[in-house]
Amino acid sequence: ATPTALMVGTGRGAQLGILIKGPEVLESTRRIDTIVLDKTGTVTTGEMSLRDVVAATGEDADEVLRLAASLEDGSEHPIARAVVAGAKERGVGVARVEDFTSVDGLGVQGVVDGHAVVVGRPQLLRDWSITVGDELESALTRARASGATPVVVGWDGTARGVLVVGDTVKTTSRQAIAQLRDLGLTPWLLTGDNPEAARHVAGQVGIDADNVIADVMPADKVDVVRRLQDEGRVVAMVGDGVNDAAALATADLGMAMGTGTDVAIEASDLTLVRGDLRVAPDAIRLARRTLSTIK
Ligand code: ADP
Ligand code: MG
Repeated sequence: ATPTALMVGTGRGAQLGILIKGPEVLESTRRIDTIVLDKTGTVTTGEMSLRDVVAATGEDADEVLRLAASLEDGSEHPIARAVVAGAKERGVGVARVEDFTSVDGLGVQGVVDGHAVVVGRPQLLRDWSITVGDELESALTRARASGATPVVVGWDGTARGVLVVGDTVKTTSRQAIAQLRDLGLTPWLLTGDNPEAARHVAGQVGIDADNVIADVMPADKVDVVRRLQDEGRVVAMVGDGVNDAAALATADLGMAMGTGTDVAIEASDLTLVRGDLRVAPDAIRLARRTLSTIK
């Protein structure tokens, strides 16, 4: 490929809202046959909202929400923002937190009003020897079946309630995925969220249930990309989060949502400025067209 033609492609990309790290990136898109899409913030808006607060028998829903929101006030996660906003809407104030820690891909923990509070996946509560009983377990199952993302709230050794948080699919995602298929790419959905919520989103945007990989810890996303590459696929990845950075760097073509974190953008070959997934097929089309004019 002549450098001039590639430079022209790069300039055209900027007009389309695609920031390309270097002209050589266009060459690497030629053989892409697989595209891995992060769910939260890439296929969905990532703007979650609090749909429901389920208190265990004998617990007060507002108190469950208050202690959880106090902790989540210290987290940047979309779930955390939804919980804090939901508390505010319901007129529930937040308290001061000591010894706050955020556990990547699992949840948050800290001391609120003298209680050792944990909010997150059941796995995180188990690490604190907190058992999630049948009552809350069925609240989790119900929430997941509706495509939502439930998290458990516990303190002082007992699970106290479930917060049900939900996200919405971007209006343009379905069309973007249809265009990617037309370009001959197989779409996969990758997420740390639960499999039911993931399949729910996959169904809405036209990704096969067999191509959904859920419950993936942040550090393991890169392994999913490697495994697909080991199977002989040439893999593009689209993501937005800190937890997507390694996978974006390892993919044959890494694309970051412009609305995403700086870490994801730095790890990627190109940035989709507007956060609209339809720019991903635009980018692949542009690369193919640029390369064919120089053949
Ligand atoms: P994704 O891949 O969808 O961006 P993450 O890896 O960030 O998801 O998170 C995976 C799961 O960890 C969430 O679905 C949630 O159950 C739990 N989690 C992560 N951060 C938090 C938090 N701040 N509060 C509660 N739960 C959290
Ligand atoms: Mg994400």
